[in-house]
Parts: sequence; C-alpha cells; structure tokens
Amino acid sequence: MKRIGAHVSAAGGVENAPLNAAAIGATAFAVFTKNQRQWKAKPLTEQSISAFRTNCEAHGFLPAHILPHDSYLINLGHPEAEGLAKSREAFVDEMIRVRQLGLDRLNFHPGSHLKKQDEATCIARIAESINMAHQEVAGVCAVIENTAGQGTNMGYRFEHLRDIIAQVEDKSRVGVCLDTCHTFTSGYDLRTVEACNETFARFEAVVGFPYLKGMHLNDAKPELGKRVDRHASLGKGQLGMAVFRCVMNDPRFEEIPMVLETPDSSLWEEELVLLKSLC
Ligand SMILES: [Zn+2]
Ligand SMILES: [Zn+2]
Repeated sequence: MKRIGAHVSAAGGVENAPLNAAAIGATAFAVFTKNQRQWKAKPLTEQSISAFRTNCEAHGFLPAHILPHDSYLINLGHPEAEGLAKSREAFVDEMIRVRQLGLDRLNFHPGSHLKKQDEATCIARIAESINMAHQEVAGVCAVIENTAGQGTNMGYRFEHLRDIIAQVEDKSRVGVCLDTCHTFTSGYDLRTVEACNETFARFEAVVGFPYLKGMHLNDAKPELGKRVDRHASLGKGQLGMAVFRCVMNDPRFEEIPMVLETPDSSLWEEELVLLKSLC
C-alpha cells in the first residue's frame, strides 16, 4: 500500500512525532531527531527512545515507513577541512540517533560546492563522507535527496545521485528520496501524466527505482527549472495534481514513506485525504 504522511513536529521530544502523525491520519512520517538548526544536541534519553518505539508500535508505524531528516547545517561535500569534519561528525551523530530509535534510514541533502571546488570533486567528497559514516554506524541507509539546485547545492540532476551512489562502497545502505518540488524546479517536468512518465522513466534509467527509499510530496511555487526551493500546498503551486495522481497509482511507490513538507500544517490532514482520493 501507499504510505503517506507529513514531516511532523518533534516538539517536546521525538516520541511525540508518531502521535502527531497519527493525529492527522498518516501512515508514514518524517521527523528531525534533533533541532535542525543547531550543530549539537543532547543525546536521546532512554525514556524518549522507549516512548518513541512504543508510540510507533501503538499506531502501526514500521521503521520502513519513517524517514528521519538530518540537520540543514550539515554539508557532506564541504570544500574546507574544518567544515567537512564538523559535518561528518554531526552526520554520524544523526545516524546513531536513527539507530537508537530503531529506524533504518536517514534522509539528507547531498551538499554544496560553495564555488570552491568543481561538481565532480564535491560529489566524490559526499560519497567519501557516506563511506566514512557507514564504517561508524551499522544498519542505516543514507538516503540522498534530490535538490532544487538552489545556490551551489548539488543533487539537482539524477546524474548527481547516480555518481554519488557509484562511489559508495556498500550499495545496500545508500538510497534516494525524490522531492516533487525539487524535481520540478530543477528542470524535470511533472505537470502532466506524459511528463511524469518521461521524468520517472529517466529516473529509472539513470538511478533506478530499487534505490528509491522515500518521497517528499510538495507542490512548487517557482516555475519549471527555476532552481529555487519554495514548496506550496498541494494544488496551490505550479504542479497541479497530475504528479500526485501518478505517484498514488504507481506500484513503484508502494511501502516507502511519502511525506508532505507543504507550508501550511493545518492543511495536512485534508491533503492526505486528497491524496487517498486520487487512487
Ligand atoms: Zn524535501
Ligand atoms: Zn525543499
């Protein structure tokens, strides 16, 4: 079945996330396991970890339907030694938290070249960062998100995702997350059934659906190819509903967490009802 939800709040403790997800009728969710705008966080407490597991079990959320997201500060392709080391350390800490919560994947934005290196060098650094994290932490899949390509962000071409994966040693612990807003604003059309078929066929040819470990379901404020990252509520942006109808009816998107990151959380419950109605 399709597993849909939203990136829910973990205010008051990560254990509240499954409760917040259940309250909007979700069957999947995304969450930050620490404050996403800070480098350091207190370790998760035993109580918080066990309450998280209990709440997930009570509401039927399996690890494969939960997509934790890392801090926005982390840049695994950082051109400078200090920034790179800080990012790698923080990423390992994020992976440890994911593991402690009994989860199996960590979603992150690949990294930015900051105009101080070429794209291929940045991609190689990102892959090396993933390899290093794999050596430190077992059992967690590094889920690379495609980006809008804003600023110097890498990950705006399917080829970037392919080239990172190619340099990761343990292919069983690397995957990708496609964000519908980012896909569109980076230049892949998703406004009609035909456009979706073509874009997803290109994804299949370049990366491959076996690597797809999550989706972010967002409409887009910017036009096609603008390389600006601005999400819109479903049906309120440039995309329209075709892509969501395609995703909800395509078996290649079964049993992975598909989550809203749309700007108005008061609409999430309605948006989930709308998504279900497209099947
Ligand atoms: Zn996203
Ligand atoms: Zn975004």
